[in-house]
Amino acid sequence: FLRVNDVSKWYGDEQVLDEVSFEMDRSDVTVLIGPSGSGKSTMLRCVNRLAEAQEGSITLDGEEVLSPDTDVDRLRREVGMVFQSFNLFAHLSALGNVALGPRRVLGLSAAEARERATSQLERVGLADQLESYPAELSGGQQQRVGIARALAMEPKLMLFDEPTSALDPELIGEVLEVMRALVDEGMTMLVVTHEMSFARAVADEVVFLDDGRVVERGPPEQLFERPEKERTGRFLERIA
Ligand code: ATP
Ligand code: MG
Repeated sequence: FLRVNDVSKWYGDEQVLDEVSFEMDRSDVTVLIGPSGSGKSTMLRCVNRLAEAQEGSITLDGEEVLSPDTDVDRLRREVGMVFQSFNLFAHLSALGNVALGPRRVLGLSAAEARERATSQLERVGLADQLESYPAELSGGQQQRVGIARALAMEPKLMLFDEPTSALDPELIGEVLEVMRALVDEGMTMLVVTHEMSFARAVADEVVFLDDGRVVERGPPEQLFERPEKERTGRFLERIA
């Protein structure tokens, strides 16, 4: 469903991705882990063309993402992204934030967009906060609005870049719970996270990146319990 094949990227002279490859089937959950600066965010951003990979191939549902002919707007409709910083519009309510894409990008009527936003906010447990503004919401609630906003575009793939890293510890659980529910619904998800218990519980595959390279990848029970590479073991010890 998603095939990343020998993707390389440079910022100027600095190579940040070095022949990265992994594949996902539909409904798979892949978790990317690795030290700061290893290229995790860059890898995610190459998938929806927020960053341009110079070499390699990324196909989504059989279509080449990196082709110059790719309709990037359509790609970004099909690939939802959730960021560490929630990036909500402060002057819009939860409902307004979630309805914006369906209204402006998908061209739904105001009533349809409202209806879709309402059901997505219900899906993330915010049915009673529709009219709340971001400043009135906790970080966990804001991030759930961020997830609802991505879901409202009905994406076929969801990218999560450290969705809980900006949250107070007591608010992490509610966001992971929403993500787990998405997993149970069969959403295809590529997730950068340091939440190893989440990775252990839901990932089909964990990919360990270091210095722009895939050091090792495999099912979580293998990668966490019996890493083949010394480097993987050292990283896991450090974050444990
Ligand atoms: P973190 O865990 O800190 O989020 P990461 O694994 O997501 O790190 P990236 O953000 O992908 O790492 O960065 C990989 C490398 O690319 C780093 O050396 C970073 O400094 C560099 N880099 C990232 N974005 C840019 C940019 N826009 N311009 C230049 N260099 C960049
Ligand atoms: Mg990052």
